[in-house]
Amino acid sequence: MTKFKSLGLNDTLLQAITDLGFETPSEVQEKTIPILLEKDTDLVALAQTGTGKTAAFGFPMLQKIDIKSRTTQGLILSPTRELCLQITNEMKNYGKHEKGLNVVAIYGGASISDQARAIKKGAQVIVATPGRMKDMISRNMIDISKIEYCVLDEADEMLNMGFYEDITEILSYSPGDKSTWLFSATMPREVATIAKKFMHNPVEVTVGSANVGSSQVSHEYYLVNARDRYSALKRLADAQPDIFSVVFCRTKRDTQKVAEQLIQDGYNAGAIHGDLSQNQRDMVMRSFRNRQIQMLVATDVAARGIDVDDITHVINYQLPDEIETYTHRSGRTGRAGKTGISMVIVSKSEVRKISSIEKKIQKKFEKKDIPSGDQICEVQLYHLANNIAKTEINHEIDIHLPKLNEVLEDFSKEELIKKFFSVEFTRFNNYYKKSKDLNVEGRRSNYEEDQKDSTRYFINIGAKDDFDWMTMKDFLKDLLNLGKDDVYKVDVKDSFSFFNTDDKHQELVLSVFSEFQLEGRRVSVEISKDKGRDGRSGGRGRGGRDRGRGGDRSRSGGGDRRRGDHDRGDKGERDRGSSDRGGFKKRSGGFGDDKPKFSGKRRGRSDKPDSKGTGGKRRRRV
Ligand code: AMP
Repeated sequence: MTKFKSLGLNDTLLQAITDLGFETPSEVQEKTIPILLEKDTDLVALAQTGTGKTAAFGFPMLQKIDIKSRTTQGLILSPTRELCLQITNEMKNYGKHEKGLNVVAIYGGASISDQARAIKKGAQVIVATPGRMKDMISRNMIDISKIEYCVLDEADEMLNMGFYEDITEILSYSPGDKSTWLFSATMPREVATIAKKFMHNPVEVTVGSANVGSSQVSHEYYLVNARDRYSALKRLADAQPDIFSVVFCRTKRDTQKVAEQLIQDGYNAGAIHGDLSQNQRDMVMRSFRNRQIQMLVATDVAARGIDVDDITHVINYQLPDEIETYTHRSGRTGRAGKTGISMVIVSKSEVRKISSIEKKIQKKFEKKDIPSGDQICEVQLYHLANNIAKTEINHEIDIHLPKLNEVLEDFSKEELIKKFFSVEFTRFNNYYKKSKDLNVEGRRSNYEEDQKDSTRYFINIGAKDDFDWMTMKDFLKDLLNLGKDDVYKVDVKDSFSFFNTDDKHQELVLSVFSEFQLEGRRVSVEISKDKGRDGRSGGRGRGGRDRGRGGDRSRSGGGDRRRGDHDRGDKGERDRGSSDRGGFKKRSGGFGDDKPKFSGKRRGRSDKPDSKGTGGKRRRRV
């Protein structure tokens, strides 16, 4: 507490800190609070979620505003409704002894007139999502012309979600001499640009280092065949009976599917993604917080609002496209001083990405083995034994004891233990009795090694023919009748593409394409001299050379995703319809057409953004 006092906070706030049970300031609090209290300055703080950054800007704001005045003096912009509500709640807690303080949350998916009424009563602090905020300003429901402090929280997320224009417009209604405090977990170019544009000589504070994962999180990866991904997930869960986790998938479809499978298989699981209504999402989140759900399967967009502190594991069921997204995912665990584990299930074709992530987050991954059936049975057995040892005796059972004794009197203690444990053990043992080893051998990222047995091909179709790297990969593997990992380093350019297979498939590839035609057009494949050095299977040039930050998902993804087009929630959250990828057979359009007929459908289904993001019926609104 003395440490909080030495930061310069006043007694009413210190009282709230005592009530909240905060003992020592976190790093970001220690670094920012004195600066913000001492002078009116702009500030850029690089800090992960869960590091206590709400308090880092919340306490100084509350100390500096004039509570007696009803004028709006502080504005906090946050990317999602969930975060907005969480910050509002925290601010109310921090200011609970400040008589007359009114903090109002403004977000989409709720009654705008109720919010306008709350504002009318006089809110010194508004916490808002950009979409609804812009709306209310333009309808003259909110006046921010006198704000003195503006916080851009999770700035990288807001920009990722396409809120650049909304933020710009909102800020244009605010005074130029206010102090702007920007908080971001990562510092991509876009955030640096916004800092430059809207801030004057900001003080810079870094907690840990930019883009670096939390020191509280350890990182593990598990190498399996792509087809064993789900079994691997179940084993990881079975080997951690007290798991409380978020399982990340890339698409809404996979998210739903994995959650449904888990539920069917008896796990306490739930899904959260943009196809659910706000009510459904609230319900799922409530069950998760209450621990009725132990495994929350989520898309990246929907997970943005998850504000649960004691998540033990983050499981990357599939890796994200962007490494920065991995930082956000793993930051869901290891919060508020606790430790956490971020697990990645990878197939051979993806394992190269682990090294890129390591480089970015400056943390080493440990390669671990998926536990065997025997190991899981053992873990479950001892878990049960420990639970029994810890269980308090319910003496209401006493009246039944004579009868129970009668039923069990012929058995020795040892027999009873065996019988009792067999109830649970048999279930796991039966399931895992004949289970195979799911681990596969694979190389990490040795370029020379990578090239040794691999052939790179040039193919004369590309983005113009409405392929992106995923649809191209699916098309090739279906046509060549190869497995998911057999076609890799797919790199789709405008009118041509590249891909790799192992050398052993060279003959097959060349023979299939020796006379391959599609609706009159010859599709040819040649062996390329370019080996596809960057080792990615994505359709991107090395070092991001030929793409915007959204990735060169050609015309079906990246091209549609313009920065600042408000089309929030599309980052990586495709809804890939498996039935209509897989290539030519299902296509009705032809290469000769200006507009291939399949394109609308393919784009519509394969790259449908999670436009609902975190709520509301309308796109663009939170
Ligand atoms: P945040 O990064 O603001 O989302 O905070 C993450 C969690 O840490 C929240 O539940 C806060 O209430 C909690 N927290 C913030 N500051 C402290 C502190 N100094 N000591 C303990 N917990 C804290």
